[in-house]
Amino acid sequence: MADKYVYDFEEGNRDMKNLLGGKGANLAEMTNMGLPVPPGFTVTCAACNAFRGAGGRFPSGMVEEVAAHLERLEGGMGRRLGDAGDPLLVSVRSGAPFSMPGMMDTVLNLGLNDQSVEGLAKQTGSERFAWDSYRRLLQMYGKTVMGVDGDRFEEALEQAKEAKGVGNDVGLDQGDLRRLVEAFKAIISAESGREFPQDPREQLTGGIEAVFGSWDNRRAVDYRRKNKIDDSLGTAVNIQAMVFGNRGDDSGTGVAFTRNPANGDARPYGDYLGNAQGEDVVSGIRNTLKLEDMGEVQPGAWAELQGHLTTLEGHYRDMCDVEFTVEQGKLWLLQTRVGKRTAVAEWIMAYDMWSEGLIDLDTAMLRLDADRLEELFKKVIAEGVGVEAIASGLNASPGAAVGKAVFSADDAQAWAERGEPVILVRRETTPDDYHGMIRAQGILTSAGGTNSHAAVVARGEGIPAVCGAAQVRVDRQARRFTVDGTTVSEGEFVTIDGFTGLVYAGQLALADSPVERARAGDPVARREKIWQAYERFMARADEVRRLKVRTNADTPGQSGNAIDRGAEGIGLCRTEHMFLGEERVAAVRRMIFADSAAEEQAAYEVLLPLQRDDFVGIFQAMDGKPVTVRLLDPPLHEFLPDQVELAVAVALANQQGHAQVEVGGDEALALEEAEELLAKVNDLHEANPMLGLRGVRLGILKPGLYAMQVRAILQAAARVKAEGGDPIVEIMIPLVAGREELAQLREELEPVARQTLAEQGQELEVLWGTMIELPRAALVAGEIAEVAEFFSFGTNDLTQTAFGFSRDDIGKFLGLYEERKLVPANPFVTIDQAGVGRLMQIACQEGRQARSTLKLGICGEHGGDPDSVRFCHALGLDYVSCSPFRVPTARLAAGQAALGQTTTASK
Ligand code: PEP
Ligand code: MG
Repeated sequence: MADKYVYDFEEGNRDMKNLLGGKGANLAEMTNMGLPVPPGFTVTCAACNAFRGAGGRFPSGMVEEVAAHLERLEGGMGRRLGDAGDPLLVSVRSGAPFSMPGMMDTVLNLGLNDQSVEGLAKQTGSERFAWDSYRRLLQMYGKTVMGVDGDRFEEALEQAKEAKGVGNDVGLDQGDLRRLVEAFKAIISAESGREFPQDPREQLTGGIEAVFGSWDNRRAVDYRRKNKIDDSLGTAVNIQAMVFGNRGDDSGTGVAFTRNPANGDARPYGDYLGNAQGEDVVSGIRNTLKLEDMGEVQPGAWAELQGHLTTLEGHYRDMCDVEFTVEQGKLWLLQTRVGKRTAVAEWIMAYDMWSEGLIDLDTAMLRLDADRLEELFKKVIAEGVGVEAIASGLNASPGAAVGKAVFSADDAQAWAERGEPVILVRRETTPDDYHGMIRAQGILTSAGGTNSHAAVVARGEGIPAVCGAAQVRVDRQARRFTVDGTTVSEGEFVTIDGFTGLVYAGQLALADSPVERARAGDPVARREKIWQAYERFMARADEVRRLKVRTNADTPGQSGNAIDRGAEGIGLCRTEHMFLGEERVAAVRRMIFADSAAEEQAAYEVLLPLQRDDFVGIFQAMDGKPVTVRLLDPPLHEFLPDQVELAVAVALANQQGHAQVEVGGDEALALEEAEELLAKVNDLHEANPMLGLRGVRLGILKPGLYAMQVRAILQAAARVKAEGGDPIVEIMIPLVAGREELAQLREELEPVARQTLAEQGQELEVLWGTMIELPRAALVAGEIAEVAEFFSFGTNDLTQTAFGFSRDDIGKFLGLYEERKLVPANPFVTIDQAGVGRLMQIACQEGRQARSTLKLGICGEHGGDPDSVRFCHALGLDYVSCSPFRVPTARLAAGQAALGQTTTASK
């Protein structure tokens, strides 16, 4: 049988998302639930992929199938597309397997032409309505299908309104709209070199082609990359009989959520706009009515809508959003899906739905997006700042944000890329602004409701936003905005509060969120529902997870912070900072320059007590929990001045006859000393320091160095133990490539450890292990495990060395690599399972074969990335270790992995 590319709504259901797209599958589901859905059919994602694969040609048979389904639709409706007497009109909408709001194209009112517009006028008894619908078709079709710059239509519309002296399009009458239709046709012809097609079937084919093509437009591609959506999925196209919200005052359109997507409140929420079509709500052209006030203008439809919202939520067992239209008092549902929500709303809804008995606890926990957990800890404006807001708008996306005002998406991107925090200020945003929006700290718009494009994108991305702040006058050309007497120009600070909708001039202090306050022990914050939800789900994650979660910390402060967030030990205590600071650097330099063993030893004697005190604080903070201390890793030249700067300073001093040379910071040396230092710096210079004298190689070359560190660690542990503490010590050697390196160092260092403990009169078991961060180490892990009691995957270096990508320089080409699909994602963020993951797998398997008790962990940045955590669970690691702030994220992801989740819920 030939491939079937088209499905009537009656033929589908909600489980067919991959074929019919989310919108198509849910329209089918609602149709079969008996809800009032205008009839229609869906052209599949497979057809889109065949079209893309064939360089923009429809697969054979598809056009005929569309024609047959259209004929059936016409039969059912008793109207024909483009009929001059009583035309059927259809909408053509995109719908991918995953929601990509506003990213792809839509055409409404398709089927109108110079004849059928008259028929529509006659049938509906409204010339104004018919001509308004026709101008909308020309505008959308011209822009999306024929590639005409949308601003040209907007300008003509503005002119028409100005000429008439009206503020918005409702003030235009049928004569104005007829003239606008002619103007729009002229724009299309002049800009595209083609006439608007009068044949409705040609319109339909063009519409389908445009929607398929929009899968690959820039904003859709950017959105997929940001949200890790697979490019190969393609979009479906939904062709549906039009119903009209713009047929007069007894008509309208709106968006409804079964619960509040911003704060999780268990009441319907949304916007309604009288006498309008769907895109008017989203584009924020006119100010909308709150959904709960819709009953005042449409009591019957409002009552019916509430009933359908309850039905949908019960059926989907989740918060749904619905697009609806009221045509002359009759309610129609045009779309539903499980709605997007803020992280705060996600937790509150999951908690409420579990409390209400709608879903069980594990289902609720699996719905939480671990990647967004950190949003719960988002900042708010500090209390008592005492600054008056200059404007207020809608609290469209939570979180407070401070940044410098910029007025275009391109500027937002450029400024953010050079490290400036920005607030993107616009009258309203369009999908073309996406690349700038996602780089802004916050978004402020002067038009648009809680479902405007800006609001939807901001909520989806977790960016604070205030929308529809009507007092704000945005002057894009002059790059400033004004509110009454206040002007904020480009580059000046502005603060927005996406929780309250308030806007402030200047840079306000921000404070911690309720969850952050509750975590820190604030009793008032602890009574809030969001905290209760947090505690309940984290407790469940902890109950079911198999992976332990440790932290990467190297100070007592960081350790305490991580414990508060649930860390169960330290997986990586980097010791390099213990060699920094004026006194320590001087000793390190003496060690580097030492001409004799005695001189070198003298330098260690200075460093030892300082390091011991550092370790005491850490063992105290981590009492009873394992602490993996990594011996010094970075190359020694990092403790010396910069080679080029020093060479220049020495040359200048020589030239100008100065006796003193500045060697960085406040430090000055006699010229002779500076020259000696330069000689040493030149001596230690390496072409590839990342592959140079670092890690275990330092330990081999400078035996006293690691011995000093081992002594400091065990003196500290012994002291803490003597005071009644319970230090658990693991010593880790970095950058090992083979068994012998580790074996020889252990032979040298274990007696030092034993001797130190004996001197202190304490007994302590010490685990000795290594990082697996070089491909060779992974491949000979079986041999290494003979001399290692634990492995910790250093996936930063392992990724660097497996790919041969410098972790410090990848920024130069990573964007292009992602765009061209040369890497599936940034491999320094999410483990590259095929390559790096495979090395890890070999190391785990062969390591455990050699030593069944081998402890396995990860301490690269990936230890806090949810997808990587799930991969580590699947590999059978014992623990992940991540930065203190990512500890809750890792706990949740580990819990979800234990319940069988392999990737983020929203993907
Ligand atoms: C690693 O390489 O993954 C690691 C944790 O070590 P560092 O980042 O300090 O090189
Ligand atoms: Mg490393």
